Amino acid sequence: MYRTVDPTSGEVIREFADLSDEEATHALERADAAYRSWSALPIGERAAIVGQIGALHRERTEELAELMTLEMGKPITQSRAEVQLAASIYEYYGQKGPALLADETLDIAGAGVAIVRTEPIGALLGVMPWNFPLYQVARFVAPNLLLGNTILLKHASNCPQLSLAVEQIASDAGASNGEYANVFVTHGQIEGIIASPLLQGVSLTGSESAGRRIGGLAGQNLKKCVLELGGSDPLIILPGADIPLAVTAAATGRFWNAGQACTSMKRTIVSEEVWDDFFPRFLEEASTWHTGDPKDPDTKMGPLSSPGSRRDVAELVDDAVAKGAKVHLGGTIPEGDGAYYPATVLSGVTPDMRLYHEEIFGPVAVVYKVASTDAAVDLANDSPFGLGSAVFAGSGIEADEVAGRLEVGMVGVNMLIRSAPDLPFGGVKNSGIGRELGRFGLDEFANKKLVRRA
Ligand code: NAP
Repeated sequence: MYRTVDPTSGEVIREFADLSDEEATHALERADAAYRSWSALPIGERAAIVGQIGALHRERTEELAELMTLEMGKPITQSRAEVQLAASIYEYYGQKGPALLADETLDIAGAGVAIVRTEPIGALLGVMPWNFPLYQVARFVAPNLLLGNTILLKHASNCPQLSLAVEQIASDAGASNGEYANVFVTHGQIEGIIASPLLQGVSLTGSESAGRRIGGLAGQNLKKCVLELGGSDPLIILPGADIPLAVTAAATGRFWNAGQACTSMKRTIVSEEVWDDFFPRFLEEASTWHTGDPKDPDTKMGPLSSPGSRRDVAELVDDAVAKGAKVHLGGTIPEGDGAYYPATVLSGVTPDMRLYHEEIFGPVAVVYKVASTDAAVDLANDSPFGLGSAVFAGSGIEADEVAGRLEVGMVGVNMLIRSAPDLPFGGVKNSGIGRELGRFGLDEFANKKLVRRA
């Protein structure tokens, strides 16, 4: 069941029925049929439609931002910023895409001509999460529509109105014949879609457990898959770091979107040499991240997306506290309506606690004090995840050296990594398989076809 539930009150606003099996099959048949004509269009025509999807996001910013804030509780200013980011991704592929898809001639030293073409593969399924509900969709949809693939989009069950708004935008932009279809399908129906010979690939952005399920189905059915999964990103602060800069980065990186981001800085690892300078300032900064009504433009942190999400966060904190972790700020569920959880800062987290190993998807900063750079790197790498990270240090050389030792897909040196249309995004270890955005995102669901001539 797909439902809009206001996370500030628990009120059910609208409900949408799941598709029947016949409707799900029909949507897939339509996407497969649309692939024939869509992929045959000149690249410039597809690029123009992708760019127009971006333009319509901008034009409908207020409507989209309000829906996002209603359905998952993101503060309205952050929702507006996400609409712009999503728009910029469609615009990037609309403008640069044709050049990115140009044939590549290989140097084969007088042995004739060898060209690699980047061609589409067919109908794809996207399975998306609610936490950045427009941006995640854009990362998958923009490069693949440009390439000539067609899309079935199964969005998270708590943002159905936003999913329909994106489908409307795609249609209004010119992808109105099955090139992009929103599908309200069940987890069970996903299994049938992935197994169908009409589907050529699946991309999931979501949790590790969903990744195991969807990656397993893709493997069984020999379908290409991209998995963008969870993270427990470390932010390392070494001697010589610009402490005010690091404080702002650690707090923004952890509390933005109420901590519900895959690349949120979930573990802050601080050299003992700078601990006294960093920690009191960080606590002070963290305490400015009050929760409030997400519709209010002054609110920095809204509710979590649902009472279930809040329960997951509270369980991890309670487990750590019961085993000896120290709470410096927050740490308890407030009274009153809504799925609110306060900005929380913990220290003393040890490997016997779930929080040490698991991803916490809420506004909880875990801060560690370490004796050396080596200890910082070892702690950062002692995680099943390997998505993003950041290193703050005085010397660029030391920070670069540490960046090279981190088992992650992305590192920010004296900055947070920020997603951008032209930069690759993705992780290693249990954080997933594959990359999105830039030219890398175009290659995932492409047939890199070799054409040879004597
Ligand atoms: P989730 O529960 O895994 O849900 C994500 C999507 O997968 C939803 O559409 C969900 O559908 C679907 N899904 C879940 N379990 C499934 C199953 N067994 N079979 C088929 N579909 C399934 O994740 P979430 O709570 O929405 O999002 C938070 C997670 O996403 C975090 O772990 C976060 O780190 C990760 N994330 C990763 C990235 C990245 O780029 N690496 C970006 C954002 C978020 P329903 O809603 O219908 O259950």
